[in-house]
Formats: sequence, structure tokens, C-alpha cells
Amino acid sequence: MPDSVMQQLWSTSHLDGGNASYVEELYELYLQDPNSVAEEWRSYFQKLPQVNGHAGSDVAHSTVRDHFLHLAKSNRRPQAASGGAVSSEHEKKQIDVLRLIQAFRMRGHQASNLDPLGLWKREEIVDLTLADYDLTDADLDTVFRTGELQIGKDEATLREILDALQVTYCSNFGIEYMHIVDSTQRRWFQQRIESVRGKPQLGADTKRHLLERLTAAEGLEKYLGTKYPGTKRFGVEGGESLIPMLDEIIQRSGSYGTQEVVLGMAHRGRLNVLVNTLGKNPRDLFDEFEGKKKVDMGSGDVKYHQGFSSNVMTSGGEVHLALAFNPSHLEIVSPVVEGSVRARQDRRLDTTGDKVLPISIHGDAAFAGQGVVMETFQMSQTRAYKTGGTIHIVINNQVGFTTSRQDDARSTEYCTDVAKMIQAPIFHVNGDDPEAVLFVTQLAVDYRMQFKRDVVIDMVCYRRRGHNEADEPSGTQPLMYEVITKHPTTRDIYAERLVGEGVLTSDEVQERFEEYRNALDNGDHVVKSLVKEPDTGSFVDWAPYLNHKWTARHDTSFDLKTLQELANKLTDLPDGLVLQRQVGKIIEDRRKMAAGALALNWGFAETMAYATLLHEGHPVRITGQDVGRGTFSHRHAVLHSQNDGRAYVPLRKLSENQPRFDIHDSLLSEEAVLAFEYGYATTTPNALVIWEAQFGDFFNGAQVVVDQFITSGEHKWGRLCGLTMLLPHGYEGQGPEHSSARLERFLQLSAEHNIQVCVPSTPAQVYHMLRRQVIRPLRKPLIALTPKSLLRHKLATSTLEELAEGSFQTVIPEVDAIDPKKVDRVVMCSGKVYYDLLEKRRNEEADNIAIVRIEQLYPFPEDDLAEVLAPYKHLKKVVWCQEEPMNQGAWYCSQHHMRRVLSQHKTKNLYLDYAGREASAAPACGHPSMHAEQQEKLLQDAFTV
Ligand code: AMP
Repeated sequence: MPDSVMQQLWSTSHLDGGNASYVEELYELYLQDPNSVAEEWRSYFQKLPQVNGHAGSDVAHSTVRDHFLHLAKSNRRPQAASGGAVSSEHEKKQIDVLRLIQAFRMRGHQASNLDPLGLWKREEIVDLTLADYDLTDADLDTVFRTGELQIGKDEATLREILDALQVTYCSNFGIEYMHIVDSTQRRWFQQRIESVRGKPQLGADTKRHLLERLTAAEGLEKYLGTKYPGTKRFGVEGGESLIPMLDEIIQRSGSYGTQEVVLGMAHRGRLNVLVNTLGKNPRDLFDEFEGKKKVDMGSGDVKYHQGFSSNVMTSGGEVHLALAFNPSHLEIVSPVVEGSVRARQDRRLDTTGDKVLPISIHGDAAFAGQGVVMETFQMSQTRAYKTGGTIHIVINNQVGFTTSRQDDARSTEYCTDVAKMIQAPIFHVNGDDPEAVLFVTQLAVDYRMQFKRDVVIDMVCYRRRGHNEADEPSGTQPLMYEVITKHPTTRDIYAERLVGEGVLTSDEVQERFEEYRNALDNGDHVVKSLVKEPDTGSFVDWAPYLNHKWTARHDTSFDLKTLQELANKLTDLPDGLVLQRQVGKIIEDRRKMAAGALALNWGFAETMAYATLLHEGHPVRITGQDVGRGTFSHRHAVLHSQNDGRAYVPLRKLSENQPRFDIHDSLLSEEAVLAFEYGYATTTPNALVIWEAQFGDFFNGAQVVVDQFITSGEHKWGRLCGLTMLLPHGYEGQGPEHSSARLERFLQLSAEHNIQVCVPSTPAQVYHMLRRQVIRPLRKPLIALTPKSLLRHKLATSTLEELAEGSFQTVIPEVDAIDPKKVDRVVMCSGKVYYDLLEKRRNEEADNIAIVRIEQLYPFPEDDLAEVLAPYKHLKKVVWCQEEPMNQGAWYCSQHHMRRVLSQHKTKNLYLDYAGREASAAPACGHPSMHAEQQEKLLQDAFTV
């Protein structure tokens, strides 16, 4: 009764390739002999789409399969001719067997032996029992077709099929891949896993190598534990299989031709990875344990945050390894690693991701809990951020500090469930079975190389000690630690297994352990594949960027004629590109600006900064929400043709051999995106790398990146970074969330010349500021508060000559021809409020007041300010005027600099007064009328306090 067979087929929740393949088999039978299939199937096949006028035989199998899948998706069922009787009981059972196979593929991982401690309580999966399919033990010896089950034969007994499914899908690893929509990928996994029944044969050398790596992992921890008892090291103990896993990833990706691997990881296991994977000299590590300070580092960081670089040899050649420095904020290093990888790929013109591989190592609790994990996954296939797939490793020790996995750490079944949102395949593997770990590792590398997508290995293990070595875990996890205390190490378990298999003798096992210990005693490198004299040919030379002072002047002028030629190229658009009306007007205006017929606005000057830098050989990368157009519609670096939607980027059309100009609207993330750009900028010193916030204050969604990396990375880790953050800022009456870029936060974080904080107020200033950021070899993050209404303000304009000849002015003196002798009041300010003050002063003809703009608030230009104030010898009042409330803006953080300058002024006892909004909890008020009143008052105060 095909009708009921079909009903079963279509009602099964597992309908996909497997059942489709059964139908395909029926179809093949039908092709050979239409009478060999039940009448209703025959009737159905006869109605299938026809090719060349012939029914059936010319229809490609894929067409049949697609047709069935389409029907399944649209929830339609093939019409059976009649509700006749079952064609055969066997046929019905055959369908059940296929469903059972699908169930194992989908849910076998839930019955796998994943927990080395045996503490996971997992419910029985009824889908994996015969009873759920009305099959019984009596069917075990019946022969069924195996469908697409890749076990080397087309037919097998149910017993054989069940055995194969159990060993393949429910052994010491489990795989989640059936959520992947792409059937090619699913079949790839089936082929790879089922064909070897989840357990490839390994040679004795491979086994010995696995043991050697485990010996190294355990040996280092034991050594450190004995030599430095009670010192925090966040040991890998319990998760030692990480070391052979990494070894395999590096070696295997090297064999694919990968040339660089960038790793990100938190504390756990880091020292072990540094010594046993990257080949850091153990002696250097011991020095750190002994608290010896490195002379060339700034304030430094704890040893389990340190990065490292080395080269190792693989069968495919030398591979450069870089472990990223990172703070304690878990997971934030992942997008930094992605950015660094993308930068290396761009440098190598590696558009597929073959040459540079990212590896992200996570903890189970953090992977499940931190939102940046989701953001990073979301980036993984986007144009701006993709890196050809990341290999994620979760060191799943089943506890987060003291928070237990059950009940508290998450709501999902696995800590890795978030990865399913991008259909990443997920391997769960028992960390105490190094051979299973090796198998899934090989699959993960091969999958990433073949499909260029993220893949996750969830290594289920345990934490032999507390969160760190000074922490007592049994107080909070008593039962778990009762088991752990008695549990043999992974190395012991595996060594016993190999001795049992005759691969090694017990004496040899012991010898290996002692050899490793001796190497540590001698302070020898313990990574055999380490390249002692690495090929530095492809390294970036950072030497030109070291040891510069911010005060060193560098010429940012640019030949006027070439500038105009570049501007003309930008506005010379291809035929057929139909611009939207306002955009057309902007381009038309830019033509006039290039010809000197119109005063230059912000958009033009900013664009010319990019064009001139590109012309001089510097790549430019800009990302952020809406950057192509610009939140306030001033940039229009990406033009969208109105007739066919095509995007045209004039800055990529300057010349054939120009450097990259990358501009991408980002996904709506701040944290991961800013971290990515930090990673990119710390890997690319010769480029202008910009992240722009939609509104300035939105960077606070990425505060961790600002605090832990951008403002402190150089001093903690000696890593320079020339990242530019463009943060729209200005009090325009738009309410609390669209006014302030929280200038005070950056000024409070400013110290030791760590960053530059600038508030350019003219087009020429933004032009020279951006050019200076690249041309001056100093690599310091630039925090630039950019305007909104000034983008179109009639007074905020510049001339071509100012672009061609000028430079960035940290302080802009009074611009009107005011006699300094008459000036008794100076108002100092930054940003948009300057134009309000200027208009007021002009309206009131108050020529006793000079207005001075401080365009760089950090490093504070004390000398330049002193020079600007020097001509005013009759000063009575100096006022700092700001739009921000008193507890915000520059007032609290910058006044000491201004006072210091005033204290040295010819006029003695000059006091610095304040004109600005009252202190406020919110950055700005929400009522436009209140805003106007406050604005009026602060301008008045500037002239009268
Ligand atoms: P990596 O490829 O990241 O391992 O970097 C190789 C070497 O380049 C490092 O060991 C540093 O000496 C240098 N280097 C890399 N990035 C930076 C940076 N952001 N600032 C200063 N030096 C760097």
C-alpha cells in the first residue's frame, strides 16, 4: 500500500536525503522494470516531470530527488491512486529502517559517550530504539537495503545496520550536522564518518605521537605544579587532548598549503599551548613565574594573557603561528583574531581563506554565555568580515568558575548550540579518547578547507583543579571533584591502552615522560617542528613605526593639481550609472568644489583624504553601520545605480595599481565589529583603518574593546594600533542617545600618550587629521569626534588651498581680524559649539572676545595653546565653553591642562571659568525647547561669566 508507505514517508520528521534516496532506489527499480514496484509508485513515477518528451527514464535522479524534497517542503504529498492494502510488510519495514538510520544521524550524538567523568545524565532517546519504529528483535536478522548508509554494502541485516549506526554515531564522539541545509555538506559528513564507522585505523606512529603530545601536555603542568606550587597557571589538566588536537590542526592545515594560523584563547591551557604548541622557550615562562620583568614591555600583563609568535614546519611548508594577546574578558579575543586573520588574508591576496586559518579556543560557560560569540558567528560569512571559516574548539570542562553546567550555566542542551545559527557542524568528543579527538579534528580541518565555513569541536573534559590552582573546587562541586580526584589522567588511560595494544612498553612510556621533564629542566624548546630561523619574508616590519613622539611634525600637504585630478576621477562616473537625484547633486557639487567654484564641505574633504592616501600607496578600510553612505548622508563613497541597483565605488577607480579601498556597511554589532577592526589595525600598520559608529555613543556597546584593547593594548602587550574611530557627536536637540560620543570616557582613559582624541571642526581639519594618521609613522588609536550639522554648516567650509598646503592644527586661533590688544576674554571650546559662539560674537560685534578652538584634546597640546594665547596680554577672563553637561565632555578631564597653560601666561592669576550645561545624569535632554534654552544659556555664559 504505497499510500500508507507514502504517508509514513512524508509524515516522518526525518524526511530528507535518506528517504529521498530510498525513493530514488525505487525509481531505479521502476526504470529497469516498471512492474517491479507497486502500482501506486508506478503511477506516481509516470507523472513525474518529463525530459525530451519521455516520461521517466530520461529524468535525472537528482530531478526526482529534488521533486520529492520540494513536495516535502511544501508539505504536499503525492497522490496515491487508491488506498489499497500494504504492498508488502517488508516494504513498510524498509521505510522504518531508513527512518531509523536518519534518527541516528540526527540524534546519535545524544546517546554518545561524551563525558569522561560519566556524570552527565542523559535521557534515553526513543528515536534510537527499534520499538519506536515497530521493529523488534525478531527483525534483526532480516536483510534490508542500506539506502545511503555508507557501510560498504547495499544490503545488510538490521543487526548489522544497527551495530554500524551505534558505533558510528554513538561512540566517544557525537556529531551534529543534520541541521545543515546544504545536502552536499551532509552527504560529505555521511561519507566520511559512516565509511569508517567513526573510527579510522591508526598506525603505531600516529598513536605514539598522540601519546607524546599528551605526555608534553601533562608533563608541563606537573612540572609547573611542583616547581611553583599554588601559583596561578590555569592549567589544561583534564583537557590535555587540546595539545594533540592543535598539533593536528596545524599540521593538517599546513599540508593544505596554509601559511599562517592565528589563535585566540582564554587563560585555560594557555601556558601549555605557548610552550607545547608555539614553542615558547620554557625558560622564558619560568622567568615569568619568577616575576622577572621584561625590559621592553610597558606596564606588562600576567603570563596567561601573553601572546606569542613562531614558525613551525609542516608537510606543506613553514607555517607562521600567532597567538593573540588577550584580556580576561572571555570571548572578546575571537573577533580580534578574525580581524587579524582577515588582514593577513588581504595582505596575501587570499580571497578564499586557504592561506590563513583562524582558530578560536573557548570555554564552555563563556561560549554559551557571551553575546559576542553570536556576533562573531554572524560575521563569519559577510563580505566585510569573512575569513574562510574558523575552527572553534571548546574546552568543555563542564563548569564555569564555580557555576555548574546543570541548571545555571545555560538553557541550551549543549554549550555549543549558538553555532547552529550559522549551520556550523558541531563535534562533541570525549576528551579522554585521543583517537576520537584526532578523528574529529581531521574532519573539522577538512570540512573547513573544503567548505570554507566555521566548524566547532566541543571537547568534553573536566578541570582537574579549581578555577585556578589557588582555588578549592570541592566546596562548590563536591560530587564532581570526588570523581575527578580518582580519575586517571588522559595520558595514563591512553598509555595503558597502547601498552595493551603492544604499541609501547610501560618502560618506554616512562622514558618519554622523563625525556620531556629533562627538556624542561634544560630549558630546551619542546616543539620538535619549531623552525629555529623562521622565514621572515612575509612578516610585516613594524620597526618604522616604533619609538615616535606625537609632537613630531609630518607633512600632510598634497600637490593641488594632482588633488584636483583625483577629485575629477572620483566624479567622472561611468555611462549608464543613474544616480538618485540628491546623490547626483552631491556629485555635481563635488565637481564644482574640485574646480574651485564652490567652498569645500566635509564630505568632499574626507573623500579627498582617502583619495590622496590611496594615491600615495596606503590601503584604506572603513566599516561600521551605514558607512557607505554615511549615517548623515555626507559620504556617498558607494553609489547605487537607480536602474539596476549596482554599486559603484569611485575610490576604487583611481588607478589600476592602487591599493585596496574597502568600505563595508557592517552588521548591526559594535562589540565584535570594533574588536575585528582592532585586530585588523594591529596587523596592518600601513593602512588607514576606520570604524565609524552610527551615533557616537553606540561605541559603548563595545566598551570592552575600548578599555581592554584600544586604550591599553600597547602598554600591556607592546602591540601598536593605528585604528581610527569616527564618532558622530554634537548637541542638536536630538535627545539623550544621539548627542554625545561620551568624550569624557576617552579622556578619562587617556594616559601615557596611549590614544589621540581629536575634535576637528573644519573640512580641512578632518582631511589633515586622517592623512596625518597614516603619514606620521606613529601608530596610536585615533578617537575622532565627528560632526552632524557641521557636515552642511555654511561656515564649516574650507578651500582647496587649505587641503593642498595646510596641516592638522591641534589648536586653531581666532580667525577674525580682532586686535589682540582689545581682547580681555578668551573663550576656548571644541567642536560644533564654536560656530554658535562665532555667530554670537559676530552678531554682537564683541571684539573684546577671542575664540580659540582646541582640536586635539589628548595628548593635550599645551605648547600650541600657550602660543595661541600669548598675543592676548590684557586678559581678564578665560572660559572653557562646552555643550556637554559639566560632569561630561572635556571639562573635568582636560581643565588641568588648560590651567597649566594659563599659569604660565604673562597675565598672572588667570582663572579658568566654565560655561556649559549643568551636571546631568543623562547625556542630553529629550525636549527640543529645553535643549534650545540650555544652549542659549551656555552661549550667554561664555560671554558673561
Ligand atoms: P605576528 O604575525 O602577529 O606574530 O607578528 C610578528 C611580529 O611582528 C611580532 O612578534 C612583533 O614583533 C611584530 N608585531 C606584530 N604586530 C605588531 C603590532 N601591532 N605592534 C608592534 N609590533 C607588532
